[in-house]
Amino acid sequence: MVRKEFDIVIVGSGAGGGTVAKELSALCRDGVRIAVLECGPRLREEEYTGREVEMADRLYFDGGGVLTRDRSVTLAFGRAYGGSTVVYTGTSLTLPRRTFERWDVAGLDYDDLERRSRKYCVENNVHLLPPDRINDNNRLFAEGCRRLGYRVEQFPVNVKGCEGSGLCNLGCPNGAKMGTHRVQLPEAERNGVTVVTNCTVDRIENRTIRASVTEESVGHPSAWAPGEYSVSAKAIVVAAGAVNTPAVLLRSGMGRALPALGRYFTCHPALILVARHARPIAGYFGHPKSYYCDEFAEAEGFLLETCMYFPFTTAKSLAGFGEEPRALLSAMDHLQMILVLALDPARPENRVMIDREGRPVVDYSLTEDVRRSLVKSMRTSARIFFAGGAERVHAPAGRKFFIESTEADRIDELIPFDGFRTGKVSVSSAHLMGGCRMGARSADSVTDAWGRVHGTRGLFVADASLFPRSAEINPYITIMALADRVAEGVRADLPHLTH
Ligand SMILES: Cc1cc2nc3c(=O)[nH]c(=O)nc-3n(C[C@H](O)[C@H](O)[C@H](O)COP(=O)(O)OP(=O)(O)OC[C@H]3O[C@@H](n4cnc5c(N)ncnc54)[C@H](O)[C@@H]3O)c2cc1C
Ligand code: SF4
Repeated sequence: MVRKEFDIVIVGSGAGGGTVAKELSALCRDGVRIAVLECGPRLREEEYTGREVEMADRLYFDGGGVLTRDRSVTLAFGRAYGGSTVVYTGTSLTLPRRTFERWDVAGLDYDDLERRSRKYCVENNVHLLPPDRINDNNRLFAEGCRRLGYRVEQFPVNVKGCEGSGLCNLGCPNGAKMGTHRVQLPEAERNGVTVVTNCTVDRIENRTIRASVTEESVGHPSAWAPGEYSVSAKAIVVAAGAVNTPAVLLRSGMGRALPALGRYFTCHPALILVARHARPIAGYFGHPKSYYCDEFAEAEGFLLETCMYFPFTTAKSLAGFGEEPRALLSAMDHLQMILVLALDPARPENRVMIDREGRPVVDYSLTEDVRRSLVKSMRTSARIFFAGGAERVHAPAGRKFFIESTEADRIDELIPFDGFRTGKVSVSSAHLMGGCRMGARSADSVTDAWGRVHGTRGLFVADASLFPRSAEINPYITIMALADRVAEGVRADLPHLTH
């Protein structure tokens, strides 16, 4: 066992961990020793190949196929230097005030969160793409929404030098997406922070971290040699994401004192919906995500966004086998796609647990309300597809594989509520939130509004697990804003902490 000592150790290098590392890195000038321990690899530029299955294996936990306990939802989250920001699409929204009010966290102020969010919009080069960079897949969605009178907005995105290769979710091969691996982590390293990749944290006991470094088949070698490590620190910031942060704390034996630990997990259960046009769309060229429609968020509980996925992911989103899916997939260049996000409630029953070996298990069920929202979202999407000129639409809960444009007046009948069956409809999720929710009391929350874990001095959380309920929009900017606050709290507490 190799022993190491730092002043501050950050676990995880994604939206939360990368932000904390950069924010605290100025302290290195005063001799403060800071390390980031990240279990994923740091890929070399030439290892971003854009090949779907290869990149999924390199950049995601379990190749992007982590399943919930009942196997009804697939969870996608990144495992790399930069975490999920390496594979995110980079759409950059700030938390709506109405959502913030539902969060109702004592000591958290909306104006403060918004100010910090704006700071990261500037730092990550967030802007609207000009009209000539919007591809047909996106344009048709906006046109369809407008024809139906639905509110549609353009997404700000955080790219610099985007070449429109459409590969964002496989790691940008052009270095154009401004994730923490491009912005915050390099700055932190320049300022003196040590980033240790291929380093998995097992548990934390008395401000000492047990971790192991392994050799990976891809990426740069880790800063530390393979082996077991015991790392002590005055302050430990856990930012391993909404599945792994609760798991690390549960493995560390904190579940008894913190009954809310792991609970209130939400994930915006998502559907990838597909329609075929008579003419080529070639939606896989260009930035994949330019518009969203939140017309139905309040009343029906779902958001619609544009998207464009790769052959394997698209195939897994279809309900059925045989000739019809084959016909659809062989016309990839004619496909239009919509991503649905259900705005799921935060329930104590939906939670991250650990199994006997200490591995995370996500016990999550889709409520009846969420299932109904997802069916309504399929009906609404079908209307948008047809209003944009699609000739046939596939709805996974539909009575038949294709709904033809001539049947557009029978959409509600052809997509019935009882057509949504677990196992038939492929539900996925990329916005994992909650599990260490902020709040005033240890009875129903895990940290205070500055990410300090209740009852444990020097231990902080700084990632999406802090969310008390879902974000109801794409979350990464809000995660960075919260992590910025946590960094401020660490700076304030550090002079009073000892090893
Ligand atoms: C495909 C995809 C597309 C997305 N698109 C968008 C988008 O367009 N806009 C948006 O706002 N959001 C998007 N998101 C969501 C966004 O990326 C995440 O919400 C955000 O990155 C989560 O930040 P985090 O810090 O909580 O976790 P992460 O960014 O996932 O970082 C956690 C890090 O901790 C590491 N880690 C985990 N366990 C351990 C351990 N035991 N020891 C050491 N390290 C560990 C992981 O490897 C990872 O690097 C997308 C997500 C995905 C997967
Ligand atoms: S679309 Fe732009 S940001 Fe996305 S992978 Fe291609 S170049 Fe990178």
